[in-house]
Amino acid sequence: MTIPAPTAGGPALPQERRLVTSIPGPRSAEILARKAAAVAAGVGHSVPIAAVAAGGGVIVDADDNSFIDLGSGIAVTSVGNAHPAVVAAIAEQATRFTHTCFMISPYDEYIAVAEALNRLTPGVHAKRSALFNTGAEAVENAVKIARKATGRPAVVAFDHGYHGRTNLTMALTAKSMPYKSGFGPFAPEVYRAPVSYPYRDALSGPEAARRAIQHIEKQVGAENLAAIVIEPIQGEGGFIVPADGFLPALADWCRANGVVFIADEVQTGFARTGAMFASEHFGIVPDLITTAKGIAGGMPLAAVTGRAEIMDAAHVGGLGGTYGGNPVACAAALATIGVYESEDLSGRARRIGEILTERLTAMQVADPRIGEVRGVGAMVAAEFVDPATGAPDAALTGAVARACIEAGVVVLTCGTFGNVIRFLPPLVIGDELLHEGLDVVAGALAAA
Ligand SMILES: *Cc1c(COP(=O)(O)O)cnc(C)c1O
Repeated sequence: MTIPAPTAGGPALPQERRLVTSIPGPRSAEILARKAAAVAAGVGHSVPIAAVAAGGGVIVDADDNSFIDLGSGIAVTSVGNAHPAVVAAIAEQATRFTHTCFMISPYDEYIAVAEALNRLTPGVHAKRSALFNTGAEAVENAVKIARKATGRPAVVAFDHGYHGRTNLTMALTAKSMPYKSGFGPFAPEVYRAPVSYPYRDALSGPEAARRAIQHIEKQVGAENLAAIVIEPIQGEGGFIVPADGFLPALADWCRANGVVFIADEVQTGFARTGAMFASEHFGIVPDLITTAKGIAGGMPLAAVTGRAEIMDAAHVGGLGGTYGGNPVACAAALATIGVYESEDLSGRARRIGEILTERLTAMQVADPRIGEVRGVGAMVAAEFVDPATGAPDAALTGAVARACIEAGVVVLTCGTFGNVIRFLPPLVIGDELLHEGLDVVAGALAAA
């Protein structure tokens, strides 16, 4: 079979929606047939194309179709795919060295990433960071650290929470299908508490916090609890923004009870919400914060950052991993963080958020099947419901998403009930392309 010579990625790629075949085209179909024969069935995909290049706000497939990207590979390529500064940093680092193992001979790039994270995360207290490869690994290590620091076993996660696919993070994750079903038994000493979901529970933040705290005190006991792990805005669970006051009340309760407050900012971090970290919107200063996705322009890297006295509780040799803080990934992270700061992508995220919210709210006014439009910055979602009952409408959601993809716009779904379309465009997407993508969404909804 023949695959076209890869077009150069990066923002130089024509920023246009272009369909030259139906989706999938013949070359993508051929590659996806090989996938089905060679790759484990459990590794699914939601967009039936084979990517050959991506940059700025577009993804190009093997048939030369160009898609508007409203997903950023799940909030990863927020600086745009193949950003020139990131590409140059990766190339430069790769020519010097690709690995020594930081636990054997440390290197400057890892330390510089730790310094940047200590500087950028909320709070002015003394901080330390440790680097890993994936979001799940960061969450696992945050829990390890909290247990060692407190000498307590229990961990509380929340309804609709998502924290990864490893054994401990499956236990922390709320949704059974597809993340957990059949993969147990799960790690012990993980408990689940109710979250704040204003659209569905109609509770104020303080009310939702009282409900959660009472649940934790009765069913776990503060004296047994090492940490709570919570996404400031839930990602996979449906872009659920907690009511005002919910997170501060939980953080206050944690402080009063010697419980480590872990903010999982793997999806919300790095300018996505219009601030470097979503915790800032809620006025909370987490004890530990986990990051990954947007950290390194697409290279695998993750981190735990937090209070020095908690982070340093783990004994020497207790934390690490062969690849954690790989030098090429670190070089990419330093360049990526530089782009967030020098291009003011937080400001850009706020502007993108205004456009998304305005356009989606206009669709909602005209169409009661959109039950709620919610989000912060460039992390915005529409929840689809049966207008008569308010019941989640996953079938409509799937149909709209499929129609968008067939029309050349990559959108992602999410939500415990599978009835949410989430918008996570690259923060470097142009206004025109974003509007064109939303025109397609509006058309797909009208036709569904
Ligand atoms: C994606 C995600 C994870 C898991 O990250 P991986 O890199 O896929 O392991 C953890 N927490 C949150 C909030 C996420 O969105």
